[in-house]
Amino acid sequence: MNEIIKRTIENLEKNNMETHFLKAKEDVVPLIDSIIKPNSTVFIGGSVTLTETGVIEYLKTGKHKFYDRNNPNLTDEGVTDILVKTYGGDVFLCSSNAVTEEGELYNVDGRANRISAIAYGPKKVIIVVGTNKIVKNLDEAVKRVKTISAPLNCKRLDCRTYCFEKGHCMDMEGGMGKGCNSAARICRHYLVSSKQDQKGRITVIIVDEKLGY
Ligand code: SF4
Repeated sequence: MNEIIKRTIENLEKNNMETHFLKAKEDVVPLIDSIIKPNSTVFIGGSVTLTETGVIEYLKTGKHKFYDRNNPNLTDEGVTDILVKTYGGDVFLCSSNAVTEEGELYNVDGRANRISAIAYGPKKVIIVVGTNKIVKNLDEAVKRVKTISAPLNCKRLDCRTYCFEKGHCMDMEGGMGKGCNSAARICRHYLVSSKQDQKGRITVIIVDEKLGY
């Protein structure tokens, strides 16, 4: 483990978040299997990392009560029902747009369902991140979202914004909340998770690989 990862883990722990460091993405599912009790109600936020690490397939094995918001058979009302139920769930899994060396999680949402569940509701939150998500501080976290996470998520979701075309935010200088005026804008709600009141409610699993964006 290098000094940057070590410092990040120490500061996440200081902020009352539990941490695990894994060498490879194949180690994620066994760890998560040991953390989540059988028959727990489990919910997810939108995440490429959870797919890349095999977590989504694992959740479909039937060991838990998995409420899959991405089930193609769901109606819009069905998706909304799952998003609302998330707040009373046992476990919520997602990734983070950035993790600072200072021990903070930084996330930006379009609908805020993911960041609201990180902040409050589910009894346990498990966040899986590759080391590519680690940045020095919040300024770098904001920059990371504007130059990496948002443009690539706009591509993935086919949101035809400025960053979809140019690869970076329309407003790189105006600060965190500044951006485009597109109806397809995906940056609408912003969350910094710093010192937690419930020690260990949030678990951050850092994997020594490039995962998601
Ligand atoms: S505010 Fe608009 S242009 Fe800027 S990163 Fe978000 S979606 Fe892209």
